[in-house]
Amino acid sequence: MDLFQGNLHSKLLKTETSIFAVMTGLAKEYGAVNLSQGFPDFPISEELIDRVTYYMKSGFNQYAPMTGVDELRKAISLMFRHNHDAYYHPDREINITAGGTQALYAAIAAFVRKDDEVIIFEPAYDSYGPAVQLNGGIVKYARLEFPDFRINWDELPRLINHRTKMVIINTPHNPTGSVLREEDLIKLERLLEGRDIVVLSDEVYEHLIFENIQHQSVCRFPKLASRSLLVGSFGKTFHATGWKTGFVLAPENLMKEFRKAHQFIVFASNTPIQYAISDYINNPANYLYLGKFYQEKRDLFVEKVKASRFNILPCFGTYFQLLDYSSISDENEMDFAVQLVKEYGIAAVPVSPFYHNKSDNKVLRFCFAKQEETIDKAREILCRI
Ligand code: PMP
Ligand code: GLN
Repeated sequence: MDLFQGNLHSKLLKTETSIFAVMTGLAKEYGAVNLSQGFPDFPISEELIDRVTYYMKSGFNQYAPMTGVDELRKAISLMFRHNHDAYYHPDREINITAGGTQALYAAIAAFVRKDDEVIIFEPAYDSYGPAVQLNGGIVKYARLEFPDFRINWDELPRLINHRTKMVIINTPHNPTGSVLREEDLIKLERLLEGRDIVVLSDEVYEHLIFENIQHQSVCRFPKLASRSLLVGSFGKTFHATGWKTGFVLAPENLMKEFRKAHQFIVFASNTPIQYAISDYINNPANYLYLGKFYQEKRDLFVEKVKASRFNILPCFGTYFQLLDYSSISDENEMDFAVQLVKEYGIAAVPVSPFYHNKSDNKVLRFCFAKQEETIDKAREILCRI
């Protein structure tokens, strides 16, 4: 095909292919153990598969309602009441989405106008910045300080002004595994009081939190909840990242605006999967085990890597572990990650692409949502480096 001869005027001039796609592509090319992109390598629940099959065979194969199927919205409402004693009305305050990414994008598209400022904490999940830019907004970067990755409460107030439209938070946090504490949410609530700022709270790892730490969802703080869109993803919760089914919770007036954008971005998401998940989450045991389950995987990974020359950073949630390689190499993260794939056969994700200026702390992110056999293979390699 001949190339387009006009001027492209790219809307995302600096955006490159997602680091997850790049590293998984390299891992495939070199047959490496892939701990880069975040996805489990073990099977999902048979019961859940049976439920999807049941609904497909029973004819639930046409468009779902734009807001999501009733049963799933009701089940999510119950889940949040059970977990956080927070009430979201199933019809007016809950919407099902095609995964967390689409939920985030629609929320940004619904609220961010040209030249509105959006505060993002770096290192930041890759989809936030481009979504803001595509909608004409301006990203303002706040830093999570290495190596604890906590919010700098002296810096944040200085970034807020009359143009600030949105603050995006993420807890448990990808890529660092840090979590926001109760005092962080209280400070945020106070800081935003009296301002026209909405909070977009990415909580896709809500159940993947360790050491019995309470997940501090925005919904636990009523004043914060009234300005927040909370995003969840069943891809994380049920080990099924390929299902791309998620949700948004928000007070009614924010939800109305969210839906105006959502209906023209995707309209509705996968029908039989929504029904299946609604059956499945009605039993809290199907998600309450996740913290312990992934904590055991984290501990297994960490225990095995202790014998290596990598330095292990704290990880309180998600299924990602950061390893510091500064005692092994001076190379930058990207080069070192590529070297690990090509020379040692193991793929991780460099953290520098999660910063707009590619800050380099000599750390790589490893996904431990893997079978023991995979973790063993990784250990054997990491201990040789
Ligand atoms: N937010 C974060 C922090 C994520 O890590 C991910 C995916 N890994 C998403 C959002 C997107 O979720 P989904 O795969 O459901 O689109
Ligand atoms: N969220 C996953 C990760 O952090 C990847 C998602 C994607 O590939 N876009 O690894």
